[in-house]
Amino acid sequence: MLTIFQNLVDAAKYRFGQLSAEEEAQYNSRLAQEKDGRECKQCNEFKDWNLNYSPTVRFMRDEIAKIGGNINSSNVICGKCDEMKSGGFHPELGILLCQNKIYSRSHCEDTMAHEMVHAYDHCRFEVDWTKLQHHACSEIRASSLSGECRMMNEMFKHGFLKFGRGHQECVRRRATLSVMANPNCKDREMAELVVDQVFDQCFNDTRPFDEIYR
Ligand SMILES: [Zn+2]
Repeated sequence: MLTIFQNLVDAAKYRFGQLSAEEEAQYNSRLAQEKDGRECKQCNEFKDWNLNYSPTVRFMRDEIAKIGGNINSSNVICGKCDEMKSGGFHPELGILLCQNKIYSRSHCEDTMAHEMVHAYDHCRFEVDWTKLQHHACSEIRASSLSGECRMMNEMFKHGFLKFGRGHQECVRRRATLSVMANPNCKDREMAELVVDQVFDQCFNDTRPFDEIYR
């Protein structure tokens, strides 16, 4: 309560240029902390909802469990990310959800589904994440199966003109960007080449789903 009051006072002073440099720094850092807190709380709410109610997330969790993995509330972690990504998968640590990049419950659901495809691949196949072909394959599957490239998403982002080849083009583009972030990838050209090499095989491998349905 005190903080809210202090923020109001500071906001007024801020507008009229009455804060000292030190007060202004404190005010800004307090606002930033509150924003982090709000984002963290919301991210955890999205996460819990999806773990409990999203058919895709629950299905993936069960399929991962069947092959010896374990994704649960304690190894899906909300945190702040600097890079342009909404989530990450680490073989030992689990799944990271970028609380400052996730803007809705369904965006969180797509992100969780994406990272869970990586978790599934990690348990199911002997993935060597330093090998670009392996990485590319999992990214292609993750983007395709998670719903990130569903038609509506693409329409909103690129307008109706690019709608035609939609899904596959989107999967290719997203997988290329992810592979480019691999330390072993030299440049975009290299990423595009690797994605191309494995595309058909990995795109058509929809396990554990029967087909692409999201
Ligand atoms: Zn990925």
